[in-house]
Amino acid sequence: MGFTAAIAFLVMKTGRVSRWRAVFLVVMAWAFVVRFKAQAVGLKAGAFMTEPTQEVPYCHVALSSTILNAAYNQYLALKSGAWRQWGPLSLGFLWLVFTLALGQAWCSWVCYFGGLDEGFSRLLGRFRLRRFSLPPAVRDLPAGVLIFFAVISMTSLTPMFCLWACPIKLTTSFLDPVDAVRKAQTVILVVMAAGTLVLGPLITGKRVFCGLVCPFGAWQSLWGQVNPFRVTLDKESCTRCRLCVWACPTMAIEHGGPGHPRIIPYCNRCGECVDVCPEGAISFTLLGLPSGGQVVAGAGRSPLAELWEVRSLLVFCGLVLGGAVGGVFVPDALRTLAKALLR
Ligand code: SF4
Ligand code: SF4
Repeated sequence: MGFTAAIAFLVMKTGRVSRWRAVFLVVMAWAFVVRFKAQAVGLKAGAFMTEPTQEVPYCHVALSSTILNAAYNQYLALKSGAWRQWGPLSLGFLWLVFTLALGQAWCSWVCYFGGLDEGFSRLLGRFRLRRFSLPPAVRDLPAGVLIFFAVISMTSLTPMFCLWACPIKLTTSFLDPVDAVRKAQTVILVVMAAGTLVLGPLITGKRVFCGLVCPFGAWQSLWGQVNPFRVTLDKESCTRCRLCVWACPTMAIEHGGPGHPRIIPYCNRCGECVDVCPEGAISFTLLGLPSGGQVVAGAGRSPLAELWEVRSLLVFCGLVLGGAVGGVFVPDALRTLAKALLR
């Protein structure tokens, strides 16, 4: 709680949203890894991927890629009157609450997986590729991943993304290469982790897994629209310097050719572009309505007025919900680290 409050204080004090948000997210991500890997190192039950492959992990990424299976199971539960299997009261309900409160900002403020590629994307600082952009169509890859894996998960009745493509699996369990299939899965997951969580982000400075692979990111880009938080570019103030295009870690700002850059629906409200724009032309808004522009700390506004800004509202929601999720594993991770240090 103290850590969350410190992050909120630093955001308000410095006016830099994304820098302190990233610190928060990266700490959460590594606490998650420590918590789960510490369990796995003890080789307790569940540390290996030996459970029946039909089992879907309790995970938001799995939720999106097995949504057809979940819908079918709920249909069967309803039809047979097996109310205890009525799953939306659990993970689906949590997802709804977080989506209503944060929308796509989940991926930048809460996702304890997103903090992994976010951390590596910042590690090399000025030595990474700075002016890196991809053709706009490439940014639709996660939508393709989502549709593909949702369909083959349904037809095979197994969580195919989890078993064959999700590098995050490596952070929670060990793989047990007992047969050729499991060995192939192990190799693919390791390659995916090295490329999309470590090397890609290190070299490009982008969140490669989140921006080009994660099916939940695509899912949330669709459903996140129910949430009113937006990032809005004011064309009047924009000088077309393109700094925001190069800075966006999820490649969610189109270059715009000779025109103004354009923020596309994959934006996950990280605030990096808000921080870098020298003209204050980008701001957090509610449904794109004018918010009075970017607030710069010490720019003449009273602290009370700043608290009412949309930016503060988003920071509040992000930190409260992110802190609540972190509370599930951060204390355990701290205890594990303390024990290891004192041993
Ligand atoms: S950084 Fe600001 S001024 Fe430069 S292109 Fe982006 S919105 Fe326009
Ligand atoms: S458009 Fe801005 S707020 Fe949205 S993901 Fe890119 S840098 Fe972050």
